[in-house]
Amino acid sequence: MRPARALINLPALRHNYQLARQLCADKALAVVKADAYGHGAVACAQALHDLADGYAVACLEEALQLRAAGITLPILLLEGFFAADELEQIVEHNLWCVVHADWQLDAIERQSLARPLTVWLKMDSGMHRVGFFPGEYRAVWQRLQACENVAAVVLMTHFARADELQSSATREQYQLFSAATAGMQNLISVGNSPALLAWPEIRSDWSRPGIILYGSQPVAMANPGVGEFQPVMTLQSKIIAVRELPAGEAVGYGAQFIAQQPVRVGIVAIGYADGYPRHAPTGTPVAVDGQLSQLLGRVSMDMLAVDLTGLVEAGVGSTVELWGSTVSIDQVAACAGTISYELLCNVKRVRYEYL
Ligand code: PLP
Repeated sequence: MRPARALINLPALRHNYQLARQLCADKALAVVKADAYGHGAVACAQALHDLADGYAVACLEEALQLRAAGITLPILLLEGFFAADELEQIVEHNLWCVVHADWQLDAIERQSLARPLTVWLKMDSGMHRVGFFPGEYRAVWQRLQACENVAAVVLMTHFARADELQSSATREQYQLFSAATAGMQNLISVGNSPALLAWPEIRSDWSRPGIILYGSQPVAMANPGVGEFQPVMTLQSKIIAVRELPAGEAVGYGAQFIAQQPVRVGIVAIGYADGYPRHAPTGTPVAVDGQLSQLLGRVSMDMLAVDLTGLVEAGVGSTVELWGSTVSIDQVAACAGTISYELLCNVKRVRYEYL
């Protein structure tokens, strides 16, 4: 069996949810969309069942997977992806849905539903992906408030630049949202992970933490004062071959690494087909049997090379951590020119083991 594995530390997930919850004014939906950012949605949702106030997923399919696994807590279809003919199922499975477009409103008004819905009404306060503009929001809200198919309306918006501490954009988005919803008595929802970490003055009834639950910090900043978030996923494999190369020899496709002095190279059974980023350059940190080392040369589909020079105990069978508690995924993401979210969501083909 290939030794590539993703170890998922569910106690760390529970710990992180509890920390995230301390950053929230009130309730927190655990964002478990995209298979819980590559960690396994069912396992993660089940691990949080006695802690979470609810879950957020991207689409009906993801919600139904959780319901089929026996998850009974509230589930929000966070991104507003649903078709008019899915409303019946949304009601049947007791899901909440984000509404961001007129046609969705029309569908909710026109259909005869078995039970009234909980609708999260999305405002586009600056992200400019989906949602109603501040100027049209009140009219839409009035329609929903008057609609007999609607049991409750939650007012929501999403920040585009909450991870940018020097930018005033988040404050401006929040001001727009607050002004446009003035006088509405409904619960409100703003606040992804970076907003919870970086903007303590911006809080709402329902926060929506995602990435911090998995132990990555999207904002390089001082400790928010609640303790350390712990990495949930450890991506690891083993060394399957060792090469002793003299100076001048190259490693891997394209000879992207050329030894300047004699080098001991370990070949690791994991590659970009498992989700390790092909763009990670020489020098990207790895840990070999717990000791920090570095990637050498180009990542292949099924293998990559690491530096074993000076690691005298390391050899065939040694464990290599690509990210986890020794090598931070945020560091790997920075080296590869991407974000932890993408790395986590891309993990595939490896064996998952839940702790
Ligand atoms: N809220 C919305 C609307 C989102 O789309 C997302 C994720 O993309 C989140 C919350 C969670 O974001 P994060 O993982 O940065 O906490």
